Amino acid sequence: MLIQIDKLKRRPRQIKLNEQATDFPVLRELIEQGTVAFNEAIHGTLEVTWAGDVIEVAGLLTTQVTSPCSRCLMPVVSQLEIQVMLCYAGKEDSEETAPGEDIEIQSEELGLIPFSGPEIDLRPDLDQEIIMALPQQPLCQETCKGLCPVCGGNLNQVSCDCEPPVFHAGLGALKNFKVKQ
Ligand SMILES: [Zn+2]
Ligand SMILES: [Zn+2]
Repeated sequence: MLIQIDKLKRRPRQIKLNEQATDFPVLRELIEQGTVAFNEAIHGTLEVTWAGDVIEVAGLLTTQVTSPCSRCLMPVVSQLEIQVMLCYAGKEDSEETAPGEDIEIQSEELGLIPFSGPEIDLRPDLDQEIIMALPQQPLCQETCKGLCPVCGGNLNQVSCDCEPPVFHAGLGALKNFKVKQ
């Protein structure tokens, strides 16, 4: 997943991506922690173009993940579509070729990623993009009733007769949550 700048100046490049999630270091940590599981490779096509000082990486990646419901912890399958739009700006060149004095402010506003050297490694930035696309609080269903804070039963499947605790409901739920994990 390296882009060689010299080659790119000659012609745009297309990267066909078909990567295991475990090949991305931060994603791998999340997988090992059990936060998310990937049901398929992360795949799609990225167009890489060189336009003056800016290198643009754009495309759509798709994959499927399973993560625990944020209320009842049952597995939830989500189809992910990750719109990738990364813009890299060369560090060294920007000063000489800057047309105006506001180029630095512009870079930050536009979310340009600075780079230096003959190549760009896409892996760490794609890692971030994929993580940001993961479902934040997945729900098995909108109406998920969650877990009983007393007995830990899944209230979507069982109806228990537990008395709702009056004082320490929050704490009880928290304890249960930890045990379940
Ligand atoms: Zn649920
Ligand atoms: Zn209960």
